[in-house]
Amino acid sequence: MNLEKLTKQLIEIESISPNDAGCFDILESVLCGMNFSCERINYKSVENLYAVLGSEGPTFCFLGHTDVVPTGPLDKWTYPPFGGEIHNDHMYGRGAADMKGNICAFIEALETFLSTEKLNFRIAVLLTSNEEGIPEDGFIDELLEKLKARGETIDYCLVGEPSSSSTVADTIRIGRRGSLSGKLKIIGKQGHIAYPEKFVNPIFLISDLIKILKEKKWDEGNEHFQPTSFQISNINSGTGAGNIVPGELIMDFNFRFCSESTSDDLITSFEEILNSLDLKYELDWSLSGNPYLTTKDFFINKVISAIKETTGREPIINNGGGTSDGRFMIAMDAEIVELGPLNESIHKIDENVSLNDLKTLKDIYVNLLKNLST
Ligand SMILES: [Zn+2]
Repeated sequence: MNLEKLTKQLIEIESISPNDAGCFDILESVLCGMNFSCERINYKSVENLYAVLGSEGPTFCFLGHTDVVPTGPLDKWTYPPFGGEIHNDHMYGRGAADMKGNICAFIEALETFLSTEKLNFRIAVLLTSNEEGIPEDGFIDELLEKLKARGETIDYCLVGEPSSSSTVADTIRIGRRGSLSGKLKIIGKQGHIAYPEKFVNPIFLISDLIKILKEKKWDEGNEHFQPTSFQISNINSGTGAGNIVPGELIMDFNFRFCSESTSDDLITSFEEILNSLDLKYELDWSLSGNPYLTTKDFFINKVISAIKETTGREPIINNGGGTSDGRFMIAMDAEIVELGPLNESIHKIDENVSLNDLKTLKDIYVNLLKNLST
């Protein structure tokens, strides 16, 4: 099998979340060819491929996704987003870096490893078609619950998300912050702008709240995470008429929170602030993920050694960025590390991946598999 060819084949498939659109057919045939037993576990709009090899010892799992985010305006792309064209050793296309290329690096690593080594642990490959999409289509948490219910275990998990910053494998993640969003409606009273005694302006009502929220420290962070950050993404009010004071205002906001706070802590603190200002409001919360952190160091050290053996450099640990499916994998009590290509171009126009970096990742994964055998 050829890393470039396989990556190109996958990029050519328009697998926008939650659709796999046939990527699994290609990957399944390659994995079956390596004697993996493959199964499809589908629910809601999401498809999943779970492949396992071996029957004894701890289970190492590679976790990835075949879905991609939409392309954005097609005319802005220098090369077609579903073309997989190669220019200056970089393959271009939606999903090249996030994360079809890295799935192929892992598959190729398996082929190299299995052709030379005797397997004394279990290897699982778990791929989903809705990592980037919305929860209504189904996330991988439901699949993991099913696997758990039938007694499957996953001890070590490598999440193939693009973790690298400026050179490949310069950064790994061993945790991610949580994400909690809210939609706040401040209720005032609409009226003619010339009669201030007859209306309650929700835009003035929110000004004190914003000042408090801007200055509030939610926690101090810790050695693994930055302090929890609160941001407002949108404020909307007004009727469109210049002589009317609006009756309500909607504010959208988000917490990226570290392991020093829980979503319940943040909800309580936020509502205490609102209540202290005596505001009339409605509030909806949505939790998209709790923080996770790998605290045991066995697997982390195996990954770091594999990187050092391959590149001669030691990676830094950085738990920034958005959320990942690692937040669900923690339910399996797995030790989790995220390692993948550069994240510079992900979700952007002209997303691309260096083919040389994919080869380096493949070599790192081979060394990791070897390290896990000893
Ligand atoms: Zn991704």
